[in-house]
Amino acid sequence: MKKNYLWMLALCGTLAFTSCIDNADNPSGPPESTSHKNIEEASVFSKDMDLSVYAGDNFYQYMLGQWLKDNPVPTKDGDLLIGTIITQNQNATKALAEITAKGQNLIAFTLLSLYDHDDLQSDSTLLMSKIKQIDEAGTKEAMLQLMAEFVKQGYPCPFVILPEVLMRKVYPGIEMLREYNLTSLKVERMGIPDKEAISIVEAGDKWQAYVKSKPPKKQEKMLSHHYNPHEGVMLINTARRRSAGTDWIGTLGKTLDMDLSAIAADEDEMSMVDHLMTYNLDSLKLLAKYFILNRDYKYLPLKELDINTDEGSEGLFEYIYNAATDQSSGLATSLSHSYTQHAIPEGNKAEATAMFEELRAAFRNRIGKYDWMTDVTKAKAMEKLDAMKYYCGWPDNWHAEWEAKLVAEETSYRLVCNLFNQYVDITRSMIGQTSDDAIFYADWMSMGAYVANAFYSPENNSIALLASNLVSPIYDKTMPSYYNYAVLGAQTIGHEMTHGFDNTGSKYNAIGKKENWWTPQDEQNFESRQKLLIDHFNKLQYVPNVYCDGKQTLGENIADLGGIEIAYESYMKNKVTASGGERDYLAREFYRSFAEGWKFNMTTEYAVENFKTDEHAAPILRVNGIVNLTNEWYRLFSISDGAMYVAPDKRVSIW
Ligand SMILES: [Zn+2]
Repeated sequence: MKKNYLWMLALCGTLAFTSCIDNADNPSGPPESTSHKNIEEASVFSKDMDLSVYAGDNFYQYMLGQWLKDNPVPTKDGDLLIGTIITQNQNATKALAEITAKGQNLIAFTLLSLYDHDDLQSDSTLLMSKIKQIDEAGTKEAMLQLMAEFVKQGYPCPFVILPEVLMRKVYPGIEMLREYNLTSLKVERMGIPDKEAISIVEAGDKWQAYVKSKPPKKQEKMLSHHYNPHEGVMLINTARRRSAGTDWIGTLGKTLDMDLSAIAADEDEMSMVDHLMTYNLDSLKLLAKYFILNRDYKYLPLKELDINTDEGSEGLFEYIYNAATDQSSGLATSLSHSYTQHAIPEGNKAEATAMFEELRAAFRNRIGKYDWMTDVTKAKAMEKLDAMKYYCGWPDNWHAEWEAKLVAEETSYRLVCNLFNQYVDITRSMIGQTSDDAIFYADWMSMGAYVANAFYSPENNSIALLASNLVSPIYDKTMPSYYNYAVLGAQTIGHEMTHGFDNTGSKYNAIGKKENWWTPQDEQNFESRQKLLIDHFNKLQYVPNVYCDGKQTLGENIADLGGIEIAYESYMKNKVTASGGERDYLAREFYRSFAEGWKFNMTTEYAVENFKTDEHAAPILRVNGIVNLTNEWYRLFSISDGAMYVAPDKRVSIW
């Protein structure tokens, strides 16, 4: 359900609606024919637009053609794309750097200060004491016990304990296993001989190959984090029975002082345990060393290790950022708290909450009018919509005990290790908590409120909007409200809301229980509409001769289509008092904003590779493939033909 954001900073600032009709349009060429004529008027987005393109042929190009020309993808450093996901992350990183520099987050500030005083010898001693423990393990059982202790210290060995309250699960440490190249480490300077370093790297590679060798579908499930509290789950005890004789799960539970029988896990995760049990003592040792080094090398005194020495303060901040994005360090939570306090203007959360309620009302109104659904199913859909929870920005009550505490340490590495230790304790204390604050904090906030993302959870029937959605370019109070209704409204809140009723969400009821609440006929109608949407997207190309996969992107396309319809209805009803031409102008600006929201440039190679497997369609199709299914777009832009034209009876509408 993850949604990526791809917005650039808004362009025209405070330009008011009336003052922007100033003939700023400067078409670079005449329209191709008189029947292909664009509406001629200025827009807040005029300088992005390419008026030589007929809106009915390629709305995305018409809207963003000039911007795409002005913002080519840089070719240096293997950059593949530019767009708002980059800008948004840069904005957030900048905000975090400022928060840190001002000492508004003491932990990050101290980490940064300690960085300059790192002591390789002191840090190596700490690191090598762990390596030494591994060397000294005499039996496989002793080694497995030690691995459980490493899990307790926050190492993904191979599980990491994250506070996913709702899911109540242990996680395999796959996400931690990024493509680090340990061979570039001067590990021998920490007392590890070159030859052994190579074996450690090989052991890590082998483990990663095992993880990757799982069929993609299974791996996706393994990472999908889905645990439904309303359904029976395979408890981790099942795995204990299976790996009888080597009860590592039992050892892990005892070491963590946790009742792991209350923790859910699925077959795929547990097969990792089975696999681990096939390792002999020597290979377990190498793998454990890999897990330790892999997590920690980036927190060692990097200058001493000749890594990132030329990046100056950026390199320093990257150090903080590494620790913040390593979810299990707990720094993400600490920084998230500061970020929400200092980087989000007051009032924005309340406004985004008001918009959610407006959109919910608009959606409810729409459901009442569908002709393809009986009243019985409509009532169920409304019940689900009414019950949908909305986690906006950050929990209402901030619990100090959920945040790691600053502890005096001599070096940044030691402080990071301390944070990891603390975080496991915090996590253990959170498991089983079910308050909304706990769910918001543990299931969503722990990834960092500064990450531009939003989610729908079918098991909790809730939307979570991370705080970074509440600032420009996603929510920008200097822009006219059509922009915010299109970007925060349609593409974010409305989109996530509709996920509750997409091909997956529709299988869950108001309390998040998997249940078929559809009458057979209504379900059939829903499915035939989905089929039409699949066919519609199957015909669309995101680069010449490369077609979108309508089935793979179905859920996201349903959400995009619902999002624009709901937000448009809400905008026109709640914000537009004008009539006639002025009203239509504002409506067109809403549609233009919708394209602005997907402002994105990328290399063809990147597009081909990325969207082959992405469950989201490419940005151009998230605009062109959606607007041409809405009747208003044809009316507003006077479109009666062109490459994007879809006959009225073929325009699929779902939510
Ligand atoms: Zn989505």
